[in-house]
Amino acid sequence: AAAVAAAEQVVAALREECATPAARLDGVAAAMAGEMAAGLAEEGGSKIKMIVSYVDNLPNGTEEGLFYALDLGGTNFRVLRVQLAGKEKRVVKRESREVSIPPHLMSGNSSELFGFIASALAKFVADEGHNAVFNDRQRELGFTFSFPVRQTSIASGTLIKWTKAFSIDDAVGEDVVAELQMAMEKQGLDMRVSALINDTVGTLAAGSYYDEDIVVGVILGTGSNAAYLEKANAIPKLEGELPKSGNMVINTEWGNFSSSCLPITEYDEALDKESLNPGEQASFSRRLHTPHMSKIFEKLISGMYLGEIVRRVLLKISLQSSIFGNLDQTKLKTRFILRTPDISVMHHDGTPDLRIVAEKLADNLKITDTSLETRKMVVEICDIVTRRSARLAAAGIVGILRKIGRGVPGDKRKSVIAIDGGLYEHYTEFRQCLETTLTELLGEEASKSVAVKLANDGSGLGAALIAAAHSQYL
Ligand code: ADP
Ligand code: MG
Repeated sequence: AAAVAAAEQVVAALREECATPAARLDGVAAAMAGEMAAGLAEEGGSKIKMIVSYVDNLPNGTEEGLFYALDLGGTNFRVLRVQLAGKEKRVVKRESREVSIPPHLMSGNSSELFGFIASALAKFVADEGHNAVFNDRQRELGFTFSFPVRQTSIASGTLIKWTKAFSIDDAVGEDVVAELQMAMEKQGLDMRVSALINDTVGTLAAGSYYDEDIVVGVILGTGSNAAYLEKANAIPKLEGELPKSGNMVINTEWGNFSSSCLPITEYDEALDKESLNPGEQASFSRRLHTPHMSKIFEKLISGMYLGEIVRRVLLKISLQSSIFGNLDQTKLKTRFILRTPDISVMHHDGTPDLRIVAEKLADNLKITDTSLETRKMVVEICDIVTRRSARLAAAGIVGILRKIGRGVPGDKRKSVIAIDGGLYEHYTEFRQCLETTLTELLGEEASKSVAVKLANDGSGLGAALIAAAHSQYL
């Protein structure tokens, strides 16, 4: 009984620290809207970068022709070909090929990597046979490149740094579009890179292609980010001529959002300290709610971290109580051993004795012989961590809507949010919580004009569509 009480104390503290009452989320939404404005005012004006994407036209369905996309962001890249046939027929053909990148190319040199990619692309094109359309017309490609770049136009951007498994020193500081373009020329491939985008902008574009009411694109997968359509004259830092459309897609990079309203626990702080991109440690302070943690918003909401947060809570319980029995903690002490799909499975366990939870605990963490009471506690921990995540994501979306005056009482326009990513797509409890929280925050009346929608494969299709919307032949 003492063991259970000690464990329950840990859970009770977690519940309290992760609480996200509506008033708190309203604060988060207001802070998000404020940071967005600050980031648009001047370069470096906010922790969220508010990157100008140079995409000033979203596809609207009228696009026609054959367009290509290249999606590079992880251990694989994908080439894609879509045949667009206008408003009535839309995407009439879609073919793609996935190619895995040999590990030695991920840390070699730039020309080898882009040479490899260009040759795969050339082969993809050659396999389609002769196409008379391209006798007097260049092929056009949208390039989704999911690494940090500094963009200066729709089709150029210098690489700031590699992330994930990549480290190719001589590519840093170079224009990745020029590198790709050069590699394609070497392959004798006459193709023009018409647009360089990231996956969030692609999600917004793929969404708006099918639904003109889409105003925000959100990624909720391994990481999290959002892009939205802004009025060009609301972007003071935008230099030069305003785009003809009067609009500009902004890539918020909201993962780095931070605010004293965010509910941050000891587990989040420890996770941040031990992460690849820790915030400045000197500024840790519980009283200030550690506003200097790096990518804290992303660490609270994205799929990369939810399982890891739950693991840290379970470890604390096992250190402070004996409810897990005489346990070898080796597994439980291994970082990232519990993944978000694992907590999703436990969270959705509908068996009366929570058999699936028991299996997961045994298989993943070597926690065997759990009582039903203990398993219920584990489900509650998953619920607390995931609800906080989904509710914060909803607050972020409301912040964007407020920034652009959407979904407010009196606004009759329909506003739709396109969401992509495995967390939203596969984690039902997460998705439902996000949706009900949106209604809760917007209010019954205003929420009637707001909807969310799963937008699959924004990073592939979206790039091809943006290439079409920015075609040199328009
Ligand atoms: P990425 O974000 O890497 O481009 P995805 O959009 O496919 O890729 O998202 C993958 C992420 O989604 C995983 O890292 C995981 O966090 C989350 N995820 C995938 N499947 C599930 C699932 N069944 N339940 C919960 N989360 C999942
Ligand atoms: Mg993705």
